[in-house]
Amino acid sequence: MRESTREGAPMDLSRRSFLASSVGLLCPRWGLSLGEARPTGGLPRPIPQGAVRLLPGPVLDAAEVNRRFLLGLEPDQLLHTFRIQAGLPSSATPLGGWEAPENELRGHFTGHYLSACALRFAGFGDQELKARGDAIVGTLARCQAPSGYLSAFPEEFFGRLRAGEKVWAPFYTLHKIMAGLLDMHLLAANGEALRVAAGMARWIGTFMDSLNPQERVAILEREFGGMNEALDNLGARTGDRADAELARAFDHERVFGPLARGEDALSGVHANTTIPKIIGAARRYELTGDERFRRIAEYFWSEVTGKRCYATGGTSEGESWSEKPGILPLSGYTEESCCTYNMLKLTRQIYSATGNPRCMDYYEGALFNGILGTQHPADGSKLYYLPLASGFWKLFGTPLADFWCCTGTLVESFAKLGDSAYFSDDEGILVNLFVPSELRLPERGLRLVQETAFPERGTSRLSLFVETPRKFSLKLRVPGWARAEPRVSVNGEPAAPCRPGTQSVLTRVWRTGDTVDIAFPMGLSTEELPGDPERLAFRYGPLVLAARLGSGGLRGILRARPTKPRTVPEYAGDPVAGPPLPGIGPDALRGTYPDFHIDRPALTLSPIHTVFDERYAVYHLTNPGAARGPA
Ligand SMILES: [Zn+2]
Repeated sequence: MRESTREGAPMDLSRRSFLASSVGLLCPRWGLSLGEARPTGGLPRPIPQGAVRLLPGPVLDAAEVNRRFLLGLEPDQLLHTFRIQAGLPSSATPLGGWEAPENELRGHFTGHYLSACALRFAGFGDQELKARGDAIVGTLARCQAPSGYLSAFPEEFFGRLRAGEKVWAPFYTLHKIMAGLLDMHLLAANGEALRVAAGMARWIGTFMDSLNPQERVAILEREFGGMNEALDNLGARTGDRADAELARAFDHERVFGPLARGEDALSGVHANTTIPKIIGAARRYELTGDERFRRIAEYFWSEVTGKRCYATGGTSEGESWSEKPGILPLSGYTEESCCTYNMLKLTRQIYSATGNPRCMDYYEGALFNGILGTQHPADGSKLYYLPLASGFWKLFGTPLADFWCCTGTLVESFAKLGDSAYFSDDEGILVNLFVPSELRLPERGLRLVQETAFPERGTSRLSLFVETPRKFSLKLRVPGWARAEPRVSVNGEPAAPCRPGTQSVLTRVWRTGDTVDIAFPMGLSTEELPGDPERLAFRYGPLVLAARLGSGGLRGILRARPTKPRTVPEYAGDPVAGPPLPGIGPDALRGTYPDFHIDRPALTLSPIHTVFDERYAVYHLTNPGAARGPA
């Protein structure tokens, strides 16, 4: 979200057929093709947030750390700049960083905070955060009442946007606030939040009506988040055609056109400016069935996951996509966390539109490697980038002085860690993620408890509770990374064999007390850095391993310096490259989760989501004879 966002697209417009690109010739990890067979049982449907509860384990622990982080922020501080803007009194101590009173992005985090409160209520029954969310919505309504305008910065910012003058990203911020309000309405039953969001849409409609056709196109070149998606979500709720029409004003044709034709025009483009636009396209397909929007979203997902993602599932370097698909640079500024958040959101949509289990392989990897380790376990501070060049470290923010874009998206991510564990279809329940959790579907008379020590062990047990014996299907995702056929059993009896990358479909009359066990071998593997076959990352199952390089020289520079307006975090020290690993492959690794070892040179590798406060190396130079310098 740096201010010098490169929106213009120097493009590689070489046209290629959809199939040729989508099967991921360079990097066939997650790409899917439109031609693949659709699943039986209809398409997967998301399970409502409130139906899944996390049970004790590392994932729930991370959610609780995030909760403490959220509770450490005072609503009066989150509302300070809104009140000042509306002419209401405020005696709160202002927040710092991108929420500081002089920062042009101020107010964005308050929107994310509302979403996090709503998600916490829906997924955890968290009354305390719901009460905070309700109180914030009430004050925002009072701030909006006099003029119909709701923001923490003056309307004049939109005048600068219209005039093509310097301004950060006014609609980006409005999107966060509107999305937060809609989440408070849809997930936390706050009726006032819907009225405030509808009021925002009326103000936006008036502003857009005041623009001439050239200005309407020009303003889309400034980052605007997912305004198209938020307005479509609003329209879906209100049934007001004006909202749906306003959403179309944020369809960015310069971006959509090439994607609809199956062209990768993403080189050099700012990643996190783009992904939310595609989420909006996927949402449009869901609401209208318009196949063009489906093509846009599926091609984009396939291209980015197949050719523009690191082994971790993250994407972007210096916030942008590389100059060539399939060739990825390494630095301390790889993998902006907002991109991972948004790719996960898009992946849920693509999965719902295709039923392709590969989507959930991607989801699982990005969730474990790119989300779970982006929060400091001590105080819940969040990451901006996940550095993938050797010798860097995780540079966390501070609780009160940063409020980056990624602080906002990650407080949401950690409030919905269980949201994709289960889906449903016409035939039953799909079990997609291995996480200790309970699924409650009272309308189906069904409760399902999942007990697992994954990823410590590659096993999971499901116990069923049904009001009356019922026939339906349980469809267990068989991870594509499994090293051999999994063992699946029902009440101790082996089920039919199934291959990695598919589903184990168990159809029978289920009774209370039935149990299902699944065991999938979690081997070690390597993956090349796209475009550089001499650099390998090691994986254990879906987990990317990082060689631990110690904390030498990091005293005092593990946290970002307080962020000034319009700046992004920068490292205050230099990387210290890890040793080359000549001729080393997965066979050289020994050990068990979470610590793996290489003897010569002596290195310990751990899953990247467990490494904090030290230097690490993810991609290793394994053929130094052909070296092009340290990563
Ligand atoms: Zn970000």
